[in-house]
Amino acid sequence: MSNIVAIVGRPNVGKSTLFNRLVQRREAIVDSVSGVTRDRHYGKSDWNGKEFSVIDTGGYTIGSNDIFEEEIRKQVQLAIEESDIIVFVVDVEEGITPMDTEVANILRKVKKPVLMAVNKVDNSMRVNDALEFYNLGLGEYYTISSINGSGTGELLDALTEKL
Ligand code: GDP
Ligand code: MG
Repeated sequence: MSNIVAIVGRPNVGKSTLFNRLVQRREAIVDSVSGVTRDRHYGKSDWNGKEFSVIDTGGYTIGSNDIFEEEIRKQVQLAIEESDIIVFVVDVEEGITPMDTEVANILRKVKKPVLMAVNKVDNSMRVNDALEFYNLGLGEYYTISSINGSGTGELLDALTEKL
């Protein structure tokens, strides 16, 4: 196994929307796996001639309240173990939440490349709002809109450079 990209982050930041956008580039087989990994989707993508697999973590229903932080921690740990690169998605509409900080604290210690994507930057007026995410201590980030696709090319350029 190689070239595996895991998309992590708290619920509702737009992980699945990003996943769908990435795997749409090619007729991807999305597969649910039972057991511990039942909430994960796997797909295939390519960019700049490089192929990679994408894992969408945390298939929780939108707006569900019974999401335990422990479950998200587990998803993140699993993603770290089985991927080569991690895309950490946060949400500019909500700003930094305690759960984002918790995930960032885990990711800061990881030796693998972590790319932070500030999602829902649907227009340039939201670019400044993204600045607060420097406070998560992960350095540079990519502003993206998973819905309209803006910024995702730059994210993919950076990602495929690390494959
Ligand atoms: P997940 O729980 O992290 O997988 O998040 P989802 O992909 O299910 O998205 C959660 C909500 O955010 C949905 O209503 C999406 O339509 C919305 N969303 C996702 N990406 C964007 C985006 O780039 N811009 C905006 N405005 N909304 C988004
Ligand atoms: Mg999802």
